[in-house]
Amino acid sequence: TTPEPVTVIGLGPMGQAMTRALLAAGHPVTVWNRTASRADAVVAEGATRADTVAEALAATHVAMLSLTDYQAMYDILGAAPDALAGRLVVNLSSDTPHRSTEAAQWLATLGARLLVGGIMVPAELVGTEQSYVFYSGSRDDFRTHETTLSVLGRADYRGADHALAQLYYQAQLDIFLTSLAAYLHATAMLRAAGVPAPVFAPYAREMFDMTSYFLDGVPEEIERGEYPGDAATATMMGATAEHIVGASEDAGVDTTLPRAVLSYYRRAIEAGHGAHGWPSLYEVISRPA
Ligand code: NDP
Repeated sequence: TTPEPVTVIGLGPMGQAMTRALLAAGHPVTVWNRTASRADAVVAEGATRADTVAEALAATHVAMLSLTDYQAMYDILGAAPDALAGRLVVNLSSDTPHRSTEAAQWLATLGARLLVGGIMVPAELVGTEQSYVFYSGSRDDFRTHETTLSVLGRADYRGADHALAQLYYQAQLDIFLTSLAAYLHATAMLRAAGVPAPVFAPYAREMFDMTSYFLDGVPEEIERGEYPGDAATATMMGATAEHIVGASEDAGVDTTLPRAVLSYYRRAIEAGHGAHGWPSLYEVISRPA
């Protein structure tokens, strides 16, 4: 089958990478960007420039959006509401899950449908084997356009609730941002003792690689709400958390992150989970203090 025509709105690094991946896969691509000059490169590579948003929407049945946030979608599509009827908007911009739900309702009032996308890789990996994208919205829309969507990366449909793709996206980045901050914090402790970052780096990598091993069995414990304490009890891990805060203070580096972790252990122990496994922290994390 012939690759279907697609419109891409928003040509930051991500939108440009998506456009290039689609062009490489043989899709005719129409592009529009607020700052028109940002389209020049992809137009030179084969994309078709639309002069207006309405023209961009009219050109195809599928409009992929890659914008800073959902407000940008309202700013752009709100200027051409009549051109939206019958269109599938695939919004690959980041925002809160609630904003995705609102957007689906807004687009429905204009006769359009929303498929929410959360793309999990940086621009240089878009369209490569490492790339994957969470989607939520109508299953039929997803199935109909799955081949096209798969050009950006593995297309992972998470359900009809529009909030889901954004929720999976934010959950992945929650792990990502917290882990990266922990790496920088650990590096700062060692550098304070004169250890250069490159010397510590292989050890940090080893810990990143090993961490997922500790998830074995944990999801099941969370679902059961039971955290049998074997080796790594909340008390034992909490003592470690105390030591990390102490080491941070001694090193003269910021203690915000290790203190946050320590507070989870303290509250879990106060709540009677001291002899339970470390996953019992879930009980304090899943409920606001
Ligand atoms: P940029 O911020 O570089 O691009 C943003 C795009 O949004 C530009 O085309 C910009 O237009 C447009 N835009 C922003 N505000 C408005 C507005 N009010 N009206 C009209 N257009 C607007 O983002 P990226 O390309 O880096 O990322 C796009 C999305 O992808 C973001 O949601 C980001 O979180 C997500 N993402 C990014 C990754 C990355 O590594 N960069 C990785 C995974 C996801 P103009 O050119 O005129 O300013």
